[in-house]
Amino acid sequence: MKLLRVLPFSKYLLSETIVAGETVVDATAGNGNDTLFLAEHVGAEGHVYAFDIQQAALDSTAERLGELNERVSLILDSHDNVEQYVTGPIGGAVFNLGYLPYSDDLSIVTKPETTIKAIHTLLGLLKKGGIIAISVYDGHEGGKEERDALLSYVKTLHQADVHVIRYELLNQRNNPPFLVALEKMRDFETVKQV
Ligand code: SAM
Repeated sequence: MKLLRVLPFSKYLLSETIVAGETVVDATAGNGNDTLFLAEHVGAEGHVYAFDIQQAALDSTAERLGELNERVSLILDSHDNVEQYVTGPIGGAVFNLGYLPYSDDLSIVTKPETTIKAIHTLLGLLKKGGIIAISVYDGHEGGKEERDALLSYVKTLHQADVHVIRYELLNQRNNPPFLVALEKMRDFETVKQV
């Protein structure tokens, strides 16, 4: 299959750019699918910082990781505080926006302000050529506001600093996710906005 679905395409882009031994960030650990993928990908010498604001998510991620827990720092904090934990450089980062699947409380969701602040900080820490992959779900309450704020923000990023794509399957039902992926094109500490 050439036209990958959104989540496999996100992993494909990350796997093309992250190399063994690097430090990477899962900004929304949830049930740990992406954390596990990143931990496998960076290998024994690499490290994953995985953030979530719910202990239940970090517990679920820890269970999924098994022995690979030793490559991962599970951080119970909001991803917009990433600079308190990660000094960079990082090889890549991933976000899955929205709520924790199978949770009792689906009202706990990512929020536009903190999502954008985290992306902004991670762009500074990212290596040249690195990718930040953001899967966007907009079907829940507040999802459309977050989607619109994110799209407005990424369109301000200077094209010489960051390339931005949107990838989506157009004929899927029930609010499928779409991907926004950012590639850092040159070294900078703070991205230019236009
Ligand atoms: N990638 C995950 C997986 O593989 O299962 C799914 C992530 S889920 C769609 C979104 C997660 O983001 C939830 O677990 C939620 O608690 C978390 N979250 C919401 N706001 C956050 C924040 N400000 N910082 C970090 N995590 C947050």
